[in-house]
Amino acid sequence: MKKQYIFYVLLFTVQGLVAQISHILCGKLLDTKSGELKSEQTIVIVNNEVYKVMDGYKMPKNKSDKVIDLKSKVVLPGLIDMHVHIEQEFGPRTRLNGYILDEADIAFNSVGFAKTTLLKGFTTVRDLGGTGVNISIRKAIDAGKIPGPRVFTAGKALASTGGHADPTNGSSRILRGNPGPKEGVVNSIEDAKKAVRQRYKNGADCIKITATGGVLCVAKSGDNPQFTIEEVKAICDMAKDYGMHVAAHAHGDDGMQRAVLGGVKTIEHGTYMSEGTMDLMKKHNAYLVPTITAGKEVEEKAKVAGYYPAIVVPKALAVGPQIQGTFAKAYKRGVGIAFGTDAGVYRHGDNAKEFGFMVEAGMPAIEAIQSATITNAKILKMEKEVGQIAKGFYADIIAVDEDPTKNVKTLENVVFVMKNGVVYKD
Ligand SMILES: [Zn+2]
Repeated sequence: MKKQYIFYVLLFTVQGLVAQISHILCGKLLDTKSGELKSEQTIVIVNNEVYKVMDGYKMPKNKSDKVIDLKSKVVLPGLIDMHVHIEQEFGPRTRLNGYILDEADIAFNSVGFAKTTLLKGFTTVRDLGGTGVNISIRKAIDAGKIPGPRVFTAGKALASTGGHADPTNGSSRILRGNPGPKEGVVNSIEDAKKAVRQRYKNGADCIKITATGGVLCVAKSGDNPQFTIEEVKAICDMAKDYGMHVAAHAHGDDGMQRAVLGGVKTIEHGTYMSEGTMDLMKKHNAYLVPTITAGKEVEEKAKVAGYYPAIVVPKALAVGPQIQGTFAKAYKRGVGIAFGTDAGVYRHGDNAKEFGFMVEAGMPAIEAIQSATITNAKILKMEKEVGQIAKGFYADIIAVDEDPTKNVKTLENVVFVMKNGVVYKD
C-alpha cells in the first residue's frame, strides 16, 4: 500500500514537471515592437509561454517535442480588440430578446461568439458591456470549459436614467421600473461610487460608462451629454481604488470632454470629437477606440426597412458615416489609437475588417497592427504578457498567408491560432 502511494506521488510529481515544448518554424515573423519583419525564425514554446525566439529553423532535440511548420506563413502575436460585446449580436430581434431571453440563453449564444472571435485571431478582448453574463463567460474560458479569447469585461455598463445603457429604455411604463446602481443606472456621486463597487463585487475587470447618447438604444439623442463631470470623476476615482480603468462610450463633444476631464482612459467611437478635445486627450493620455466597422454597419443596416426601431434610424444615418473621418483627423493630430471594433453591433468574427478601414483612413498598416497589440496590451496593463512574441510572453500566436504590413486584409483570413500555448486552429 505504502509503496503504491509513493509510486503515485512520484508519477504525479514527474508529470507536473514535464514541460510541453513546441517549436514553431516561421517563414516570416512580425516583431510588433520594432515593426520589423524577420525571415526564418523559430519560436520555442514551453507550456503556455514563449521561451525564446531564434534565428533560423531550429528543430527540437527531443523527438517527443512538437514541431509546427509555418514556413510558408507570416506569424504575429494574437490580436487584441478593445471593444466587443461578447454576449450578443445586434439584429431586428434585439429589442425583443431583452424580454424573452434568460441568462442561460444569453450564455449559450455567447459560447459561439467567443469561439468565432478566437478562431479569427483575436486572442484577447475587452468586453464593454452586457447583462453581466460576460463575467461568467470569462470564467468559463479561463477554466478551459469553452474556447474563447482572454476576456477583460466591464460587466454591465453604467448610464444615467434614460441614458444609452439604461436597461429599461423604451419599455412600457410597467416594465420601465426604476433601475439603480446595482443595475448600472447612476444619478449622483453616491450612486456612481456604489455602482463601481457593485461592478467590482460582481467580478468586472474595468468600468464602462455611456457618457453621451448612443445609436442603438431606444432614445432620441445619439450624442447629448449624460453624466456630469463630477459623476464621471467619482466613477474614475473609485475605479482607480479597485485597480480598474474606465472606458467611455461617447459620440457628442460635450460629454466626451467631461469624460476626458473626469479621467477616463479610452473614448469609444468619438464621432463628433473637436480638435480641442483631441488635444485634451493627448494631454490626459486618453486613447481613441475608433470602432469604424460598427459605424459602417449601422449606416448600412439603417437603410434596410424595419431592421432597427424607427427612433434609431436617423441616429444611425447621422453617426455612422462620421466615425472614419473623425478617426483620420484624430490620428493625424497625434491622439493615441487603441484598436477596437464594437463587435456584436456587427457580426462577431469580422473584427479584422477594422484594419482595412484604418489603413484606408491614412494609418500605416504596421501602426494599425501595433495599436491592436502593443497599445492595447499597455492599456490592459499586460504589456509584459501579450501583444508581442518574446521571452516570457503568453504563447498567443497567429499566422496569415501574406505580409500584413503590405496587405492588411490578409488579417481577415487568419490560418493559425494558438492561445496560451494551445492550438485552436491549424
Ligand atoms: Zn459598444
